[in-house]
Order: sequence, then C-alpha cells, then structure tokens
Amino acid sequence: MTCYLCGQPIADDAPFYNDHGQQVCKPCFLEAKRCFICRFPGRKVQEVPGLGGECEFCRGNVVAEGSPVLEALQPLQPFLERFGSWPALPPRFAWVDRLELRAMQTQADLPPDQFMDDFLRFCYPVYYQAGTYHLLRRMAKPTFAVHAIIQLASAQVAQRFDLAHLGGNTPFHTMARGFCHWLGYQAAGLLKYDVEKRQLRKWPELGAQGDFARWELSAQHMPPAKVVAQFRAELGPAARKYLPQRAP
Ligand SMILES: [Zn+2]
Ligand SMILES: [Zn+2]
Repeated sequence: MTCYLCGQPIADDAPFYNDHGQQVCKPCFLEAKRCFICRFPGRKVQEVPGLGGECEFCRGNVVAEGSPVLEALQPLQPFLERFGSWPALPPRFAWVDRLELRAMQTQADLPPDQFMDDFLRFCYPVYYQAGTYHLLRRMAKPTFAVHAIIQLASAQVAQRFDLAHLGGNTPFHTMARGFCHWLGYQAAGLLKYDVEKRQLRKWPELGAQGDFARWELSAQHMPPAKVVAQFRAELGPAARKYLPQRAP
C-alpha cells in the first residue's frame, strides 16, 4: 500500500486514512490541507472563499456556486408532488458564505465548523428565507437533494401563511418544520442516501429539526400518504391557534 500524497509505502501495521479508494499515511494526513466537504487530505485542495478547502475528488462532483440549480431540482419534483406539491413561486437562489448561512439559522455560540459535518450538526446547507433559497457554496449532490426537498416543503408552508421562513418556536413552527424535515429524511431513504439519512436522523441540533421525532414515529405505523394527510389536516388548525394574525 502506497501513500497517495508522498508515494511512500505504508507499513501493514501503520495507521492510515482511507477514502476515495486512496490511502494516506498518518504523517501526511496530519500535515495536509483537508477538504471541507469530505475531510480528505487531497493533492490539490483548493480554497473556496467563504467555505473552505475542496479536494480533487469533490471538485466537479458537487452542486457548486453557479451550477444550474433548477436542473438539479427537476428530478426531485415527482417526489415532492407525491408528498405535497411544487411551490408556486419560481425559486430564487443565492449562494452564501458558510458563516452567513449559519447566522441566518441560529444565534447560538457554536464551535467553529472545520468540516461539513460540523456545519450540518447545527444548520441546514439550504435555507429558505423571504422568497430565496440560500445555498452553501458547495455541497455533495445527495446533500443538496435531501436539503432541497426539506426547504421546498418549508417554502410551501411559509408562503401559504405569509411567513418569511419556518424558524420560530410556536407549536405551529415546530410541527411544520418537523414534517418538512421528515420529508427530506423520507427522500434520503428512498434514494438510498444512507449517510444523509443518518445525518438527518440526528441533526441539526438545537431544535432546528422541530418535531421530526414525532413524524418519524407516526411513519413507523402508518403509510407515508397517511402521514402527509395528517400533516395537512393539522396545519390549518395549528395556524389558526398559534398564528392568529396570519392564518387565511
Ligand atoms: Zn504520506
Ligand atoms: Zn473532498
């Protein structure tokens, strides 16, 4: 086994890092600049302003600033229509810096995020606010897909009740947010995105995923269509109760 970075042999009993079908020896691993998205210590890690390093394996295999986002969304449309509907307004997109995107979602004093996992632990990499989908400058395609679904669903709810976004702590907000999160989780399962499914089960922390646990529990003993019907039945009454000035 040879180290991908220094080309030296790695002894059988020596620790090494393994990803993208490549092995990296421990000394190189400790020194190299690493990719923000996948943590790999690549040969050609380039700095993406407002994000972090990007390795040669992730480059070209991500939804990145400037990519045709609408095209990337099209395959998700049938899924979303099965579970709800496509948002009425034509989507607007803005690529934003990691810290700015974090600040939109939480004011908590968080540890600095070195890698994508650290970011996802507390924040969504796609976030709908005031008619615009705010996007992290780079993300893996499966990450984009599941989070786009969560935010497209959030946008529908927000638009219907004339809210700028679904952040908020009333039972209406946590119920609606939890359902949208569950939709993304459901999509991750259907698309066989196991990593994303595991991430969505536990993250984001600090209440961002709302009452996800409740919807996930419902889905264990009723078919998805019934979970959706239940959400629709509860949404209007919850809005009248908790957003009296907003409910149509
Ligand atoms: Zn090495
Ligand atoms: Zn990478």
